[in-house]
Amino acid sequence: MESLFGDAYPVGEDLNPLFADIILPVPIPRMFTYKIPKSLAEGIGIGYRVIVQFGKKKVLTGIVGKVHAKPPQAYEAKPILDVLDAQATVNPLQIRLWAWMAEYYCCHIGEVMNAALPSGLKLSSESKIQINPLFDQETSAYPLDDRELVILEALVQREKMSYQDCENILGIKSIHGIIKSLVVKEAILVFEEVKDKFSPKVESRVRLVKRYAEDRDALEGLFASISGKPKQEEILLKYLQEVPVFHQVALNEKGLEKSIFAQAGLSQSALKTLMKNGVLEEFKVVVSRFQDELTASDPIQLSQEQDAAKASIKQQFEEKHTVLLHGITGSGKTEIYITLIEEALAGGSQVLLLLPEIALTTHMVDRLRKVFGGRMGVFHSKYSDNERVEVWNGVLSGKVSFVVGVRSSIFLPFDSLGLVIVDEEHESSYKQFDPAPRYQARDAAIMLAWLHQANTLLGSATPSFESFYNARQKKYGYVQLKNRYGEAQLPEFHLADILADKKKNLLKLDSTRLLREKIQEALQRQEQVLIFQNRRGYAPYICCEDCGWIPGCDRCDVSLTYHQFGEEMRCHYCGFKEKVPHTCAACGSTKLGAVGLGTERIEESLALLFPEARIARMDLDTTRSKYGYQRLLEDFGSGNVDILVGTQMITKGLDFDRVTVVGIMDADRILYFPDFRAGERAFQQITQVAGRAGRRDKRGNVIIQTRRPDDQIFTQIMAGDYVNFYLQEMGERQRFFYPPFVKIIKVSTRHKEYKVAEKAARHLHQLMAEIPVKKIMLGPEKGLIGKIKDQYIFESVAKLDRTSQAQAQFKHDLQAALEEMQAHKDFKSVRFVVDVDPY
Ligand code: ADP
Ligand code: ZN
Ligand code: ZN
Repeated sequence: MESLFGDAYPVGEDLNPLFADIILPVPIPRMFTYKIPKSLAEGIGIGYRVIVQFGKKKVLTGIVGKVHAKPPQAYEAKPILDVLDAQATVNPLQIRLWAWMAEYYCCHIGEVMNAALPSGLKLSSESKIQINPLFDQETSAYPLDDRELVILEALVQREKMSYQDCENILGIKSIHGIIKSLVVKEAILVFEEVKDKFSPKVESRVRLVKRYAEDRDALEGLFASISGKPKQEEILLKYLQEVPVFHQVALNEKGLEKSIFAQAGLSQSALKTLMKNGVLEEFKVVVSRFQDELTASDPIQLSQEQDAAKASIKQQFEEKHTVLLHGITGSGKTEIYITLIEEALAGGSQVLLLLPEIALTTHMVDRLRKVFGGRMGVFHSKYSDNERVEVWNGVLSGKVSFVVGVRSSIFLPFDSLGLVIVDEEHESSYKQFDPAPRYQARDAAIMLAWLHQANTLLGSATPSFESFYNARQKKYGYVQLKNRYGEAQLPEFHLADILADKKKNLLKLDSTRLLREKIQEALQRQEQVLIFQNRRGYAPYICCEDCGWIPGCDRCDVSLTYHQFGEEMRCHYCGFKEKVPHTCAACGSTKLGAVGLGTERIEESLALLFPEARIARMDLDTTRSKYGYQRLLEDFGSGNVDILVGTQMITKGLDFDRVTVVGIMDADRILYFPDFRAGERAFQQITQVAGRAGRRDKRGNVIIQTRRPDDQIFTQIMAGDYVNFYLQEMGERQRFFYPPFVKIIKVSTRHKEYKVAEKAARHLHQLMAEIPVKKIMLGPEKGLIGKIKDQYIFESVAKLDRTSQAQAQFKHDLQAALEEMQAHKDFKSVRFVVDVDPY
């Protein structure tokens, strides 16, 4: 990377000292200005890793965020101590994204850095000690005690030691006191040593030693000499069989993976003997975790409607950076993405495709892999850190030009993005809740694309209201796909009235007669069924039938969820678990009943209703392992499962031929939720899960169980009438000041003492209210959940004018207010959390 200030600043003898703003991992919301010493000026620029002194004692590593000629006003800038690398670790566009994110989401740029760098690239440093060159034991004013002498002697031997080394030498636990004393006595110096934690994947291979590989006679001699040893012979034969031979010489350089012999059932001890006797040798190679091979895939033939949509997208990109592709489920958005990605790559640009978390393990990725092979990197949140560093390095080296990934893939070191696609752009999992930066990856992706002057394509069957609003305002382009690909039709919807069935005694184990019939029919035709309930566990809570007591979490303000598996009560907020109580803690009654429906309970009741069916469950509890989700999907895909019960995990991107029935157990639970987005989300979830049915030639059936079949939303969902639903909801949002008509900033105040939390929240609320920006303030109120993990929570909400000026002013003043709060003697231990555009 070129040094940035070469162009920006005049070079001359009496040049002002140059300064660098450094991003440091400290909880202070800004960068810090340091002087660039002349000796380092040549090899430093934006994105370089540097070492600086922070405060009196600390030495930290940070990243250069900016280079300029303006000295800081409030303090004397200290010099940068050292530069760590010969080139930048992150590029200027990444830093601009970080800076935007810190400002927009009201967090520290150090926090963004933390989220952005895989920990293998993080600036980890370790404190080490060395002898102070000025120290002379003879003349020193301070005598050293025995233990200090031991350390000093060891240092003479080794030059430098870590704290851990010292602890090992002395055989004691905490060394800090001794080190501090040695520093005070000026005997040693403490310094920071930086290390990279990335360890590439290494493979053990074996090959013939040169003598046997290149000399036919020697090899024959060898075989003669081991003729009585069949196990060794077998190994050599296997080797020669796997390694190509050319002109009678084994092409031996690359050797063979060592594990092949074990896999072939050959003797490990014979292999060892051959290595010991100098016949085979072992060596290690660094390998990529990603397959390179490109399996041939059929060329894509877009349908007429798809082709027209694609042409329209490209045409609208001429005028607008962002286009919304509104295509019903099964319309083939993926195929359009693929052709657009191919074109962008062919033009030399990089491409990023964002997918919601869970969609990443499905055949969507397999499908993309077939088309893009080794050019494609996958960035999954369940990947190990080393795997992530490999994708990072792949992008950096240019080997990977296309990344498909979860939200954090926006942080990869792209330098020439041409196209960013956000699939299922309405998905709430694009929003990061904790920790900061609390960003919305769709919005950040649009900013990322803008920084690269690239295009963004947002795709969804049920666009977020924000995006649809922007499209209607002509800020975004807009393209529709109204038909499913091929012969497939949208499914037929049925409302099943839970209360009516109950009255007539037709409700069995939470299933209406209609749902049972449809499931039965599907099973008879050997088709598959999906059952959706967005609640894991067995029952949301248990309740004493005599006095109404409900077991709750001691640390959080919520009831405990009953999990039949393991007979446990669990808190879904803090992870607390306990055995299921058999008697009421309040009145001693033994009549404790499970209330409400969780996936476990549905799985159990379906097993009773359909004893012959093979039933599986997909929720957080059954998919915790890295491949748990994939395995369940494979089982379902290969027809080993008839009915799959699941949470919102089953709403995303599943594309199975034989699913013809989708049941929604309790639509009311999605609909009646105290949140302004509840309607929007219900429309999206129900439409999406319904979209899994009948994706091929057979038309699907969707059964929605509800206690309020008259609710208008069902009519609109069933008719696919997104626009009217949108218009009606937007009327409400406008009337009651909700996004996208206003911008929401939520600040929560957390403390372990109720009184302190409340007082701090009031105080802060007052400061926020005084900010001279047009706004509506709500609160402070106890959070929807008033206590989590022993922390009481109060919330203040500001609804701001949409103008960026109002927002910038508010955020700026809010920052000042928070600094004032944090400096207040009563509120030192209070935590404040700012969430911009909360969900
Ligand atoms: P969406 O993402 O819009 O819900 P998909 O991209 O999953 O839809 O497409 C639905 C199904 O139709 C998939 O199985 C896909 O492979 C198939 N399909 C869509 N378009 C084409 C096409 N042009 N050629 C062949 N198959 C297609
Ligand atoms: Zn009781
Ligand atoms: Zn809890």
